[in-house]
Amino acid sequence: MRGLLKELGFHLPIKSHLIFINPGFQLYQAPLNLSAVFPSQLKRFLEKIKNTSTAAILRNMKLVEQLNARCLKENPYMRIPEFTYRQWRKGILCDSGSSFLTPFSLGYLICERCGLKEKVDTAILRGVNEFKILFPDRKITTNTIVDWCDGGGSGKTVRRILVSNYEKKGRGKASYYQRR
Ligand SMILES: [Zn+2]
Repeated sequence: MRGLLKELGFHLPIKSHLIFINPGFQLYQAPLNLSAVFPSQLKRFLEKIKNTSTAAILRNMKLVEQLNARCLKENPYMRIPEFTYRQWRKGILCDSGSSFLTPFSLGYLICERCGLKEKVDTAILRGVNEFKILFPDRKITTNTIVDWCDGGGSGKTVRRILVSNYEKKGRGKASYYQRR
């Protein structure tokens, strides 16, 4: 930050703060001398700095615009782990992501861990979405999705759901489904 300010021609003192922006985060037994800003304090903290004379000076100097222009669009530290279809454990995850769904009663699946029941249709559609995100180059076919959902739906069920939610392309064995 110091280097960047110098490069941009600003000579300003810098104050550092430790800021937690994840609203679900809580640090228990934080040391009292830790000058951290927690999610619940964030709004007040921002309002406080907005109203300082320094903030007015910064606005005049157009520093904010310059910093914004330098924001990286893509995170260079982002790393997507490599994986193959074969390595991936098949099945439909419960919406809470804690466990896999298994057949419960006609048209319903149940989560082994939290007991949540879900309609086969919404569960399989979520499965198809996840499949598409993880393997964007693979085609959506009845067989692939039956395999992907690992017991979540029969061929007949999967075909019905795909036919009514996706557009069918091609014929016979070469047919696959695409988002409408
Ligand atoms: Zn669950």
